[in-house]
Amino acid sequence: MLLIERHRPYRLIYQEALLARTSPAHKNYPLLKEKIRRRSAGFAGELQFDRVCAEYHAGMPFNIIPAFKIPNYQIDAICIFPSFILIVEVKNISGLIHMDGDKRQFTRTLNGIITGMNNPDDQLYRHEKLIRSLIGGNTPIIGIAVFTNPSAVLEIKNIKRHVIHLSGLPFVLDELVSRYRTAPKIDSEHYTEQLISMQPPLQLSIPPTILYPLLEGVFCPHCPSIKMNYSRNYWRCPGCAAKLADAHLLALQDYRLLIGPTISNREFRKFTGMQSRTNAWIVLQSCNFQTIGNKKSLRYVIPEMDLRRSMK
Ligand SMILES: [Zn+2]
Repeated sequence: MLLIERHRPYRLIYQEALLARTSPAHKNYPLLKEKIRRRSAGFAGELQFDRVCAEYHAGMPFNIIPAFKIPNYQIDAICIFPSFILIVEVKNISGLIHMDGDKRQFTRTLNGIITGMNNPDDQLYRHEKLIRSLIGGNTPIIGIAVFTNPSAVLEIKNIKRHVIHLSGLPFVLDELVSRYRTAPKIDSEHYTEQLISMQPPLQLSIPPTILYPLLEGVFCPHCPSIKMNYSRNYWRCPGCAAKLADAHLLALQDYRLLIGPTISNREFRKFTGMQSRTNAWIVLQSCNFQTIGNKKSLRYVIPEMDLRRSMK
């Protein structure tokens, strides 16, 4: 099996940085927090799906492309089996789920509140058509909606595609493998490479200008919004007494995401509230980042990082 690690979506990493630098008193704060909660739940569901797939793979090799992305399309997973291709829509939501194939309606009822959402059956229809047009030929392309939250209750009416709980995935995959056992074999490696090569490289866009003042400082990873103080090569938290040598890396990640990919000594001092130019120089040098320019025009190139992934 081709194992491609699923990365956290850029949008989620960006929004987490923005939340960390937004005052909890700001009017955007609760909405931003809710967006992050939803995106994190979606990602957690996709990881659960990956785990069940990896387990299933022990008895049946196939390739998985997680988060297939081309302009205007994003598919949660594409599984390429020897005789068919599976297009997967992963949903990590709880509550009573209604899917109506005649009305093309998809709703979730939770705590008495009914919410209309994008219909995964329509998304799958669109994605199946896309993959068919990209690869051509007559390879069976099968869409499946997988609900990863065990507390979701599915009420499905007139839907032809598989709509299942994650726990039922191995059963459905066994059925599909058996159904297509005698179908012509496809060159799964070729299709996998073809689809992967169609994804454009991640373009890091220039961050949008944020129209309110961002919080400045190097924050304690354990105590959100508490600024750490730098002395004798360490960042110290006045809240929990944590002592860290590299707490500035998260601030630099935020800077890259929210402002731009390079930073000068002066910009670093302004963003972190550090007073001493020499200390800022020591800290920036210790990062071993690539630099551009020299002396007064020296800028440090901040690499792509996802440090909050391990903080969860
Ligand atoms: Zn702390």
